Amino acid sequence: MSPTLHMIPARRGKATRLNAGEAIRIVNTHGAQVVDTWAFSADDMGEFMSMEHIRPTLGRIFPTAGDALVTNRRRPILMFEEDSSPGRHDTLIAACDDYRYGLLGCTDYHDNCTDNLHAALRQLGLCSPETPSPLNLWMNIPVDPEGHTSWGTPLSKPGDHVVLRAVMDCVVAMSACPQDILPINGAACMPTEAHFEILGR
Ligand SMILES: [Zn+2]
Repeated sequence: MSPTLHMIPARRGKATRLNAGEAIRIVNTHGAQVVDTWAFSADDMGEFMSMEHIRPTLGRIFPTAGDALVTNRRRPILMFEEDSSPGRHDTLIAACDDYRYGLLGCTDYHDNCTDNLHAALRQLGLCSPETPSPLNLWMNIPVDPEGHTSWGTPLSKPGDHVVLRAVMDCVVAMSACPQDILPINGAACMPTEAHFEILGR
């Protein structure tokens, strides 16, 4: 039986449980959508995939296929198994939040990845006191030799996917980033839906 494809609606989040050995395939359906991605231990929401622990473990700021993605307790939680895209994913930038959009000039509430994470976890009856820094799939943040960062557009194409395999029982949460002011979701600044499916179930 082929796996069921689930939608992450534009500007919204979804979370799913993964048993150790299962994998999640996340699809950039329209090609230019950033998907903020988190993973929490199923046993303890206080242990989660951690960008600041991944970067020194890899000795790189861009994870690629074949890398183990570790937690804040430095244990592998996901294996980055496949990547059909050019492999540019961000580990530096915090999840967007309503404060961020306020600084960008919004005077009303703006959808954001932080609230999407917590809403997605609530749908599974879970709660995280923290908003860990996400693995920002397909978010293209070029870093120049002087250390300056800029807001690039994704290098991915429609249908590009990544496969992340659970090393431990975990919860994976994703947010189709609602950023529509900076061009991180493409020059059109038009957030779109993305998809995922569970493999090996
Ligand atoms: Zn976002």
